[in-house]
Amino acid sequence: MSRRLQGLPASPGIALGPAWWFRRALPVAMRMQGEDAAVERMRLQEAQERAAAELAALREAQRERLSPEELAIFEAQELMLQDPELMAAVEAELAAGASAEVAWQKAVEAFAAQLSALPDPYFQARAADVRDVGNRVLRHLAGGPEAPRMPDHPVVVVADDLLPSETVTLDPQRVLAFVTEGGGPTAHAAILARRLGVPAVVAVGAALRTVPDGAPLLVDGEGGWIEVEPEPETVRQAQARRMLWLQERAQAEAVAHEPAQTRDGVRIEVAANVGSLEDARQAFQKGADSIGLLRTEFLYLDRAAAPTEEEEINVYRALLEAMGGKPVVVRTLDVGGDKPLPYLPMPPEANPFLGVRGVRLSRQHPDLLRQQLRALLRAGAGFPLRIMFPMVSTVEEIRWLRAFFEEVRSNLAAEGHPLPSDLQVGMMVEVPAAALLAEHFLPWVDFFSLGTNDLTQYTLAADRTNPAVAGLADGLHPAVLRLIRHVTAAAEGTGKWVGVCGELAGDLVAVPVLIGLGVQELSVNPVRVPEVKAAVRRWSMAEARALAEEALRQADPEAVRRRVMEAHP
Ligand code: PEP
Ligand code: MG
Repeated sequence: MSRRLQGLPASPGIALGPAWWFRRALPVAMRMQGEDAAVERMRLQEAQERAAAELAALREAQRERLSPEELAIFEAQELMLQDPELMAAVEAELAAGASAEVAWQKAVEAFAAQLSALPDPYFQARAADVRDVGNRVLRHLAGGPEAPRMPDHPVVVVADDLLPSETVTLDPQRVLAFVTEGGGPTAHAAILARRLGVPAVVAVGAALRTVPDGAPLLVDGEGGWIEVEPEPETVRQAQARRMLWLQERAQAEAVAHEPAQTRDGVRIEVAANVGSLEDARQAFQKGADSIGLLRTEFLYLDRAAAPTEEEEINVYRALLEAMGGKPVVVRTLDVGGDKPLPYLPMPPEANPFLGVRGVRLSRQHPDLLRQQLRALLRAGAGFPLRIMFPMVSTVEEIRWLRAFFEEVRSNLAAEGHPLPSDLQVGMMVEVPAAALLAEHFLPWVDFFSLGTNDLTQYTLAADRTNPAVAGLADGLHPAVLRLIRHVTAAAEGTGKWVGVCGELAGDLVAVPVLIGLGVQELSVNPVRVPEVKAAVRRWSMAEARALAEEALRQADPEAVRRRVMEAHP
């Protein structure tokens, strides 16, 4: 009997194959009593060194496949092995006569429990990384199975959730799809799936546990559901859909470097969102017309001190060069309560997404912002550089930012530095207040880029990191679309452009609606560029406008999706 289980869509595509449960291998055979503290300390030290070497080797071997966040998690795990607080707890246990295994496990568990108890989901998620590295050391101490070995045929990987150190043990050639019990669209399995171009469905819930190993599964990454033991007729239809999907993808890849025009000849810029130099190289290779969002956080996170101006210049220049003269929109530092920096101590906030984030933090630390703007302007000489400010909510803020920017620019000119001649300054529109008053922001900027991830969370009052409300945070909600329309209407006829750089821009159903609303640039995950260009080419502007008009009148996102499906040319 076939059974359908609903989850959340995390990576598009259709796959059919046997389920393979990724079962975590836990170390066995715990020795309770230690020999003597010195011997136990040495055993632990050896195990830690072996674990550190293993992590470093995994990280290096997989560098190309990992996102900056995943790389950072590996590095954090390596650092954790020497964490002074953790080691003090271990010492106390050893001194009391515990074995190295027991001392280590107790200390690690206490540390993980502390993280789990924090209100911020980011730190709660780190508890799993702490336990993961803890188990790696235990395996070296106590022996025990290594990570589970994949079968030698292609499978649908099924798991409760997957950590970066686990996803790197999988052979991408044999992964047909990912399905997880927990996690959200930003979980590691989802990120990896999008990078590999295989479908993924996440947050299926406890019902997933009833799926036996080897059971035939149909995975629909667009609809966000799986079917267990599908009927022969469903399998036939799915196979046809899979063929079509693969064919369309191959066709899209073949013309990915051509510009994207609607059927009636309107050019839409398809750009990429990047967070590292490797991402930029991938964006160029996938045919992105430009970079629509460079998240500069990677330069600042996971280090003890801020980067120097020269360091920043080198990174920005390498990125601009990697894009071969195509425009690059660089966003100034967007951190805050949810992403704290060690060298910018901040008091804890009850609601970090409503707290001192983005430009609010930059204003408290003008030296950091000044240095970033100097580095950007110095690196950008000779390149089409765009600079963009995140989380602007009031006109007073953009006025202040623009004046600050002009002061930095004239100081650099006075110092005799060559400056970019092809330069634009813009802002992200991700706070509803800014969208509603777009016309008042317009005099201070050359462009608007809609950050629909935040705009949606603020419009629907649904925390983007909370899986329990992930279903509410749909960027195709007509309330969000009306805000977008407000922004494009304000810019119309002024020569200033409007783009979208939130995840919504890469949703193929959203593409005609967004361009119909007057959006001229879509900035998406680099791997999505070919398919988004193909989606643009499918529609005429007249069709897209009619669809957008209709979408604005709907009451919920489901109705919007239905309309698009019905109108699909
Ligand atoms: C957004 O909010 O849509 C966005 C692109 O910025 P980030 O996801 O980095 O907050
Ligand atoms: Mg944002």
